[in-house]
Amino acid sequence: MLLTISCTRPEGAAWAATDLGFLLHKNPSRMQSFDQSYGVAQVFYPEADEERCTAALLLEIDPVRLVRGKSRNTPEFSLGQYVNDRPYAASSLLAVAISTVFGSALHGRCAQRPELAETAIPLRIELPAVPCKGGPEYAERVFAPLGWTVTATPLPLDPAFPDWGDSHYVRLELTGTLRLADALSHLYVLLPVLDGSKHYWLDATEIDKLLRMGESWLPGHPERAWITQRYLARRHSLVQVALARLAELDDAEPEELGAVDDSVDDTAESDTATTEPEAGKPPSLAVLRRAAVVGALRAVGASRVLDLGCGPGALLRELVTDRAFSEIVGVDVSVMSLRIAQRRLRRLPVWQAERVTLRQGALTYTDASLQGYDAAVLMEVIEHVDANRLGALEQSVFGSAAPGAVIVTTPNSEYNALYEGMTPGVFRHHDHRFEWSRAEFADWAHRVGERFGYAVRFEPVGPEDAERGASTQMAVFTKHKGITTEQNDSDEKGAA
Ligand code: SAH
Repeated sequence: MLLTISCTRPEGAAWAATDLGFLLHKNPSRMQSFDQSYGVAQVFYPEADEERCTAALLLEIDPVRLVRGKSRNTPEFSLGQYVNDRPYAASSLLAVAISTVFGSALHGRCAQRPELAETAIPLRIELPAVPCKGGPEYAERVFAPLGWTVTATPLPLDPAFPDWGDSHYVRLELTGTLRLADALSHLYVLLPVLDGSKHYWLDATEIDKLLRMGESWLPGHPERAWITQRYLARRHSLVQVALARLAELDDAEPEELGAVDDSVDDTAESDTATTEPEAGKPPSLAVLRRAAVVGALRAVGASRVLDLGCGPGALLRELVTDRAFSEIVGVDVSVMSLRIAQRRLRRLPVWQAERVTLRQGALTYTDASLQGYDAAVLMEVIEHVDANRLGALEQSVFGSAAPGAVIVTTPNSEYNALYEGMTPGVFRHHDHRFEWSRAEFADWAHRVGERFGYAVRFEPVGPEDAERGASTQMAVFTKHKGITTEQNDSDEKGAA
C-alpha cells in the first residue's frame, strides 16, 4: 500500500517545498520505519527540493500478524482472514497508519512552522490502488465537495484479459490547495468509507473518531449521511448517535440527515432501518446555541458583528436573515470551512449575502482590520486553541479588535457524562484542546474581563441538569464605558 503526498511551492512563497518535512514531522533526508501492529510503515521522500517535495508512506502488511492481533468480538476464523487484498489495497489500515505515523500533522500541530500548518498549500495526493466499492464516481462524490480535483481511474481486473472488465479498485489522484491537516483528515475518514470494509471491530469510540476527524468539514458535506453510514459500517445504533451529534454541529435535524438514499451501498452486513422523524422533538443543541448567541447580540444592541471561527457558516446564515445586523464578517482559519460557508451564502438572496464578508485568518494573530465592531462571537472556538496560544487569542480579540461586546460559548465538561455513546474522558471533538467545567470557564472569563476591561455575565444553553448544568456555557462580555483600545494595550503592559 502506497500513499504519496506532494507539495509545490507557489511562486514567490516565503517557504520551501521541503518544509513539508516539518509539517509531517519527518525529516526528508532519511527513511524512517514504524512498527505497527499489522506490519511496518515506512516514510521516505522520493523527491525533496525547494520547489517540489514528495513524501511517501509505504505500508507492508503482514496478513498473519493482522489476524493474530485481532481481539474479542472478531469474526470466526475464515479463509478470508488469510487470503485477502489487505496487503495491496489502501484501506482502513492506511487510515490507521496516517493517524499513528502522521498524528501531529493530522491534528495541525507544527511548532517549527505554525503558520504554514494553518495555510492552504498546493497538494497532490496519489494512491495507486484504492478499493472503491460502488464505482469511481464515489471518489468524486466524497472528495470533490472538499475542494479536491479528483481523478479516479478504474483498474482492470487483469490487464491481460480486458474482457473481464474493471475491478472495484481505482488509481486515485487528488489535487487541491488545502491545509495539510485537512487533507489528512479527509483521507483518514474517506479511505475506509470508499473501501466499505473495516478491518477492526466497531464500537462507540468510532463515533467520536468520525466526528473529531470530520469536525471541520463533515457537517457541511453533501454526502455526510452516506459517509457516516459507511464509516460506521451501517451499524444502526452507532449511526443514529453519530447523526444526532452531527446535527448538533450543523443545523440539520438528524432525521434529515438519516433520510438518504443508501441504495448505492453494497455493504453486505447492513442492518438498515430508516429513521422516522419524531413528532414534537425539541430543537437540537446547535439550534439553541445559535438562538442564545443571536439573543445576546440583540441584547447588547450589536449591528456590526464579527463571527470569529465561523466554521461552515451556520450562524452567519442566521445573522443575515435578521435586519438588526447590518454588517457581518466571518473569519476562520480553515479554507475548507470557508468554502462551505461561501457555497451556502450563494444560495441566499443578494441583499442578504452582500452583508457578509468571509476572511481567512488565524485568531491567534492580531489583525487591525477587525477593530471597531460592535460585537464579536466566539461560538465553540476557544476550546480549539492550544492552551499556550489562548493568551494570543485573548490579546488579538479582547485587546486589539476590542469590540463593544464578546460572546463566547464552549462545552461544559461536567455535562459530558450525560451523553449516550460518549467515552468517559474523551472530548466532544478531536480538535478540542480542552473542555472546561463551569468553574474553570468562569475563572478564565473573569481573568480576561479584568485584564481587558470587560464586565461578564454567564448564561446556560440547552437543557439544564440540576447537578451538572447545561451542555453549553455562554459568557457575554461587555466593554466598560470609557475604556479605549489604547488603554487596553497599556493595561496589558501594566502601565495603566
Ligand atoms: N463557530 C462555528 C464553528 C465552531 S468549530 C460553530 O459554532 O458552528 C471551531 C472553528 O474554529 C473551526 O471552524 C476552526 O477552523 C476554527 N478555528 C480554530 N482555531 C482557530 C484559529 N486559531 N483561528 C481561526 N479559526 C480557528
